[in-house]
Amino acid sequence: MPNAPDRTVAPLAVPPPERSHLPEQWSPREKSLAALFTSILTRGPISRRDAARAIGMSQAAVTKLVKPMIAHGYVTEQEGYSEGPGRRLIPLVIDPRRHHAIGIKVTERELIGVIVDLHAEIRQSSRVPLHDLRPAAVVGAMADLARDLEQRAPDVGGANVGVGVGLGGHIDGRSGLVRYSPMLGWRDVPVRQLLADELDLPVVIENDVNSLALAEQWFGAGRDTASFAVVTVGSGVGGAIVVDGTLLHGVSGAAGELGHNIVDPAGPACHCGKYGCVETYASDEAILSAIGSGRGGTPPKSLAQALALAQSGDEAARQAFARAGQALGQGLSGLVNLFNPPLVVLSGEGISASDMFMDALGDELARGSFSSAAADCRLVVRPLPDETWARGAAAAMLRQGVLRYLMALTSEIPL
Ligand SMILES: [Zn+2]
Repeated sequence: MPNAPDRTVAPLAVPPPERSHLPEQWSPREKSLAALFTSILTRGPISRRDAARAIGMSQAAVTKLVKPMIAHGYVTEQEGYSEGPGRRLIPLVIDPRRHHAIGIKVTERELIGVIVDLHAEIRQSSRVPLHDLRPAAVVGAMADLARDLEQRAPDVGGANVGVGVGLGGHIDGRSGLVRYSPMLGWRDVPVRQLLADELDLPVVIENDVNSLALAEQWFGAGRDTASFAVVTVGSGVGGAIVVDGTLLHGVSGAAGELGHNIVDPAGPACHCGKYGCVETYASDEAILSAIGSGRGGTPPKSLAQALALAQSGDEAARQAFARAGQALGQGLSGLVNLFNPPLVVLSGEGISASDMFMDALGDELARGSFSSAAADCRLVVRPLPDETWARGAAAAMLRQGVLRYLMALTSEIPL
């Protein structure tokens, strides 16, 4: 274990959290600090030299910035080693005990909460069923869950930097508003302010697929690529896009809403008010209802039942899954044509049925993509539990919360 942080250091004078502070809005200094912190967090143990190379900063600048981070217990040094003749390299790691954060994934059925240390490792997790979807009730349940997680992880260490919340729908992290959440039936709910007032802690809100993409970027399939997309299937169809290391939010947080790209204007009505969106073919509900109509009777009760039907050769079920795959492939080809990613991660509860729709998805993706864009894009199917989504929300909070401390720590250092 690294040495305990030096508790004798003077408390930091940390400015109050910015009301609107997405990574796209960071100053060059904030971007550099966040990149350094993230590289030590996700690549550590890493030497100053390698961290400098990884983020395109001079080794001298890294050395200067790391010094107060060590003095204040954010970074610890491990035993040095030599790579041939020359100076010894000293690997750096983030001390997991310096801070913690909470992440919550909100679904229409339950809240999934995690408390993470400064390595973003999950120390405790918990689930709470939701019976009342009105904003005050859900925010109250989130606050209770956050307090409960704090109590259940007394040894997690350091100050809580805040709570990250991942929700489906149009989430505006700048204003802190849930602009539109179909699953909760919300429009323009100021969740960030409501929860921050309840807990007296900083809060960030993020689209849930974006928070999953952040978890993948830091710790998962997106670690070794600057650009990738995440597409999730389940009760809805979601998307998140990372370009050159930056998760895209767009002007109001609606970037990546692949589920509401229209694939057939004459298609079924979507809850968003349009017709023939990807989601109207590929969501769980859409698949179940298509099977019901195809069989001229009641739909299967669950995706597992639908999958069993398809596996047993039921034609209506097979067709419904193939149509879902086709719609997903159409949506994906639009995404692939727009930003030519090397990697798309497919996840969400619905991928339990991926065997039934991947062929149609792949065919449609190839058919709809420009030049070699589809062939250049690796598709990976990754089952990721709800806790990973919540971990991503906590990581979004950690990143923003720790940055405030690091800015205060290094304010005297010219960059
Ligand atoms: Zn729609």
